[in-house]
Amino acid sequence: MSSRLRVLPLGGLGEIGKNMTLVEYEDRIVVVDVGLRFPTPEMVGIDLVLPDFAYLRERAKDIEAIVITHGHEDHLGALPWVLRELGQRNVPAIYGGPLTIAMARSKLDEHKLREVELNEIEPGETFELGPFGLEMVHMTHSIPDSCAVALETELGTVLITGDYKFDQTPVDGRPADVSRLAELGREGVLLLCGDSTNVDREGFSPSESVVGPHLEDVFARCEGRIVVTSFASNIHRVQQVVDAAHALDRKVALVGRSMRKNVGIGRNLGHIEVPEGMLVGPREIADLPDERVVIISTGSQGEPLSALRRMAYRDHRQVELKGGDTVVFSATPIPGNERAVNETIDRLYHIGCDVITPRDAPVHASGHGYTEEVKLMLNLVKPRYVMPFHGDFKRLRLHAQLAEAVGVPPRNIFQGDNGLPLDIDARGARFGAREHSGMIFVDGVEIGELADVALRDRRMLSADGIFVVVVTIAGEDGSSVADPEVIFRGVPFLDQADELLEEIRATVETSLARAAKEEIREVDLIGQALHDDLAKLVYDRLKRRPMVLPVVVEV
Ligand SMILES: [Zn+2]
Ligand SMILES: [Zn+2]
Repeated sequence: MSSRLRVLPLGGLGEIGKNMTLVEYEDRIVVVDVGLRFPTPEMVGIDLVLPDFAYLRERAKDIEAIVITHGHEDHLGALPWVLRELGQRNVPAIYGGPLTIAMARSKLDEHKLREVELNEIEPGETFELGPFGLEMVHMTHSIPDSCAVALETELGTVLITGDYKFDQTPVDGRPADVSRLAELGREGVLLLCGDSTNVDREGFSPSESVVGPHLEDVFARCEGRIVVTSFASNIHRVQQVVDAAHALDRKVALVGRSMRKNVGIGRNLGHIEVPEGMLVGPREIADLPDERVVIISTGSQGEPLSALRRMAYRDHRQVELKGGDTVVFSATPIPGNERAVNETIDRLYHIGCDVITPRDAPVHASGHGYTEEVKLMLNLVKPRYVMPFHGDFKRLRLHAQLAEAVGVPPRNIFQGDNGLPLDIDARGARFGAREHSGMIFVDGVEIGELADVALRDRRMLSADGIFVVVVTIAGEDGSSVADPEVIFRGVPFLDQADELLEEIRATVETSLARAAKEEIREVDLIGQALHDDLAKLVYDRLKRRPMVLPVVVEV
């Protein structure tokens, strides 16, 4: 048998976010997940980060399907951009659970992408996709309809777990399909690509259903209004908030566009039930006594335009927070969002609100399994090869150690990287030559590989400001004919401005004299020399690197 199976992660390894993996067999490709990442604070002015899928663009005709494990942004969010870039016609179909597909549809509708075929599949159904057999296995996670993806080929089965935990008492009463996983293990799994998010936490993750009673405890102690913030896609959490509110005879208002949208989708699919008459509009809150209100809001990550952030900055049109209100964070910050969350919390204290976070009470449970659950997965599936997914390099390493601990031989464990393909054939598995991978930025509505220069410039401008130095020189000999003009904006710590301006003028003169002596006449070269000299001076004096922009005018 000469066929080769290739598993190529384009995102999600060495990072948490933008998950995307290509599984390739007999020249056909199934894409599992097309996720995005939110920018770090250094990526000034960038809205979203997508995996670089140039490899896929070249192979667009070979795409058999895109399969989505669940509806979270880090698995689904890049779909509109991927479809637009590859052309909807090049993607024969998209597969996922019913909620995942409903969320994909609403996303694609917003981007006016309506030509692609969206197929709901139920766990347990099997599909032929060219040389692959596809099966979804039901898992538990912080959003309903999460699935592992099993792709069967003549060489064996690849199992990509997606995000999961083994929750024995999930809110909807549907635990992960452990028996199917064990069966797949008995049939033989060639490669397991598993979630590493919580491999640094020992034991078992707490069940989602323990959160509800704790929420009710917290609510019972509140006398004023209650605001609960959580991920809008965490439909079971929203259900538990609704249940706790119901038990204490409070009405519920949904605030934030994605909260209303997801609860709408969840209600249509029967994932969430709200008793008749319990939901009120945000405008009706003012008419109810404080102790009869629970507001469920977006903004648990401190997102700049989210409802909670606006409330915290007294900038929300419908809800005005006040002393006596309690804000419950039923979520933990994703790494990178801590600062924005802390800022939001402090604004809430400034208003006089009480704030409860998962540090104060168990009002959150993670959707990702801890070490014992990762080991359980390995033992159920008994894979020949293991490639840890979904985690920074530290977590990929810890996951590899867990695999070794349950008896997978080290030579069969592959700690990968984005762009590094694992090639498997009848002789065995090995990493192939590195393929192109990286990030694509979405800047407003534009998509592109925004040059590093643009990002560097934005970082410089935002951190250290800008100096513009206008220099007027004589065309014939390059000598300075007027005093240089110096304009600066956003330069921090500039208390001896006058002194520095004098020095800048002196440096300009020296620089120009040197250029004249060396018979440098080209404006570009003079500008370069000025830049280097001035940048050095400014750094010496301020220990900062503002952008230095010489403008040379010849007269
Ligand atoms: Zn994820
Ligand atoms: Zn997830």
